[in-house]
Amino acid sequence: MLDLINLKNLTLPELKELAASINEPASKADQLFSHLYRPTSKFCQMHNISRKFLSKLNKISFITEMLLHKREISDDGTIKYAFKLADDNIIESVLIPSNGRNTLCISAQAGCAMGCKFCLTSTIGLKRNLQSSEIVGQVLFVIKEVKTIHQHINNIVFMGMGEPLANYENTLKALEILQDEKGLGFSDRKITISTCGITPKLMELAKISNVNLAISLHAIDEAMRTELMPINKKYPLKDLLANCRELSAEQGRQILIEYILLKGINDSEADAACLAKQLKGFNCKINLIPYNETPDLPYKQSSPETTQKFMDILCKSGHLTIIRHSRGNDISAACGQLAGQLKL
Ligand code: SAH
Repeated sequence: MLDLINLKNLTLPELKELAASINEPASKADQLFSHLYRPTSKFCQMHNISRKFLSKLNKISFITEMLLHKREISDDGTIKYAFKLADDNIIESVLIPSNGRNTLCISAQAGCAMGCKFCLTSTIGLKRNLQSSEIVGQVLFVIKEVKTIHQHINNIVFMGMGEPLANYENTLKALEILQDEKGLGFSDRKITISTCGITPKLMELAKISNVNLAISLHAIDEAMRTELMPINKKYPLKDLLANCRELSAEQGRQILIEYILLKGINDSEADAACLAKQLKGFNCKINLIPYNETPDLPYKQSSPETTQKFMDILCKSGHLTIIRHSRGNDISAACGQLAGQLKL
């Protein structure tokens, strides 16, 4: 039997191909595509689309919606959404309101295979890649919710569960749909992809897209980085930084460098000086992240004094540096605390 097609996994050009394959004009695919990304997107609600086209579609395809499993609201206004996927995997997204702007942090995978030692998501391992419909679905769901209070989403960051560049094809498709004027219409300036450093894919992405790029650096010494982030063995720090430097020089691109401060591990003044030196002369913004402790992992947060000293050294060396204040801690919605309802 023919597999039914999930329409939300198709980009607009793919939807046009589908229309052509059932002898329908491309213009109908345009109409259908914009319907799919409206608050209501059932076949029976698409009143301006011909019955003939809809009945053909009905036979070969289906439309999915994300299923909310749990919504938790933090004291600071952060909202964590847990979604149950068709195969019962749970993924999470976090809405972070700040100064009248809403940032939505989304997942690219159920679980994660990267094995970063300090991250709770990595303790569950990789369950599976998300389909593009499941990546975009998180955004669609939350857009509908915030619309009811007359707000919208200002920024989307791929900083939830998983490694977007390890799910490259589906991440690209999701970006195309998120950015398509007839889809969700987000500009590339409003989207950030964060990676633990899958260097070849990072460079590939940078060639074809202007989305913001963030690198989870977290250590400035090869051995230490390999210990904290096993991916460093395959894609060493030195090459990662050389490639970022190239992007900055050739494309004038500003890269966001994320650096978690782990007490007694990577937070000394010497580490700060070394980081400042390594990043010298390339266009970057440094985001220092106070570690969100979890009882299941041994790492500790650096003290506010150490954090401030670290920041001062970077600032004195001329680096644009900010400290990312943790949000949603009371509901485990902060960075590295997403683990899909995992109970260890
Ligand atoms: N895999 C991508 C996307 C995940 S983003 C990446 O590595 O960039 C999540 C960010 O939170 C990453 O920078 C990650 O290293 C960081 N993080 C993980 N655990 C954390 C924790 N407990 N406290 C603070 N940040 C953490």
